[in-house]
Amino acid sequence: MTKIEMKNPLVEIDGDEMSHVLWELVKEKLILPFVDLKSEYYDLSIVNREKTKDEITLEAAHAIIKHGVGVKCATITANKERKIEYNLKNLYPSPNATICSILDGTVFRKPIIVNGIKAPVANWKKSIIIARHMYGNMYKNSEMLIPGAGKVELVWTSRRGLEKRITVTELPGPGVIQSVYNLDVSIENFARCCFKLAVDEKMPLWFAAKDTLSKTYDGRFKAIFERIYNEEYKNLGVAYTYMLIDDAVSKIMKSEGGIIWACKNYDGDVMSSMLASATGSTAMMTSVLVSPYGVYGYEAMHGTVQRHYSRWKKYGEKTSTNPSALIFAWVGALSKRAELDGTALLGCFAEQLKNAVISSIESGNMTADLTAVADLPPSYSMNSWEFIDTVAEKLIR
Ligand code: NAP
Ligand code: MG
Repeated sequence: MTKIEMKNPLVEIDGDEMSHVLWELVKEKLILPFVDLKSEYYDLSIVNREKTKDEITLEAAHAIIKHGVGVKCATITANKERKIEYNLKNLYPSPNATICSILDGTVFRKPIIVNGIKAPVANWKKSIIIARHMYGNMYKNSEMLIPGAGKVELVWTSRRGLEKRITVTELPGPGVIQSVYNLDVSIENFARCCFKLAVDEKMPLWFAAKDTLSKTYDGRFKAIFERIYNEEYKNLGVAYTYMLIDDAVSKIMKSEGGIIWACKNYDGDVMSSMLASATGSTAMMTSVLVSPYGVYGYEAMHGTVQRHYSRWKKYGEKTSTNPSALIFAWVGALSKRAELDGTALLGCFAEQLKNAVISSIESGNMTADLTAVADLPPSYSMNSWEFIDTVAEKLIR
């Protein structure tokens, strides 16, 4: 069989643990037999990040900007436990945070919808896409333990020495404080990415925050969204609504879906997790990082699935880990590459791979996370190897 040619490379970012095991399997069985893969490879395993003093993460992010399309495996975010486990000298930041801040992108999370996997919210018929701003907020916070009573202030000093100062509070005793920030230009980029997707997908856009409480911080987000909508997108037929986030939560539960819901960083983290489990399994949630300059990074939403990996490593157990979102990350990257390069055959292959995953599940072949919530017989849970073989057979035929 002749393999499908690629015109330009994509950036392939490898990672850790069970998702790395699946990564190799997916490549070996579902990609390499069919595509003459052109990729620039970056090993972002925790061991290699430590070895390269995290330079590899910066290189990978710049490579995505250069080539326009990347696909990423889940990576460990180092913490105290991982420091001991992997004998690390340093705790480098989460690779996703580093890549996101270099691309200044927005992450869109969309569930893979298949017939027979029941959504616990019965009226959800169409996809709900969460658009998560990936800059600032709680992820770049500064915190301080306050040892005793005293005044807490917020101070800004300009490069020329101008000053703005407000009193946060007069603390009567020991306590704790936190500060967060954001940048106008990043909020503008976030808004443009969301409106652009709303145009492309012909879907209405909601932006939800809490400007009744946070009049300045959330108020800034609201005002920027409104300005960009009025100046750039109103005439393009986008249906845009601002709402309070608690209002949005109750409206979304009663909706039939088909909405792009833009959230600030922390809200987006929480809401996409809620949505992932509400639509079946966290392993059915796809994620794409879109930069305002038209650069795309695809991945699965889930992490390295450490609990499954420890069973694979200890006992060689062929775990029932669901590779669907990881396969969809490759689907997304290959079809974006095809779109940018005008390579129709590659685009067709990506579509075929996507359909192979969906029809495998719909014909009752699935991993344990899905048998638990499926309407379909049988109740047999495949391991990841069996599931990937089933998908591969559909491609060969
Ligand atoms: P996780 O890897 O998403 O796994 C949490 C649990 O969700 C698993 O134990 C499993 O539940 C279920 N699950 C997740 N993916 C699954 C899949 N593909 N198939 C079946 N079940 C799946 O989250 P975590 O355990 O909190 O994090 C593990 C590591 O991943 C951490 O080091 C974290 O830093 C990293 N992480 C990376 C990314 C990223 O790179 N994008 C994102 C999140 C977390 P059961 O055990 O009940 O089967
Ligand atoms: Mg999260």
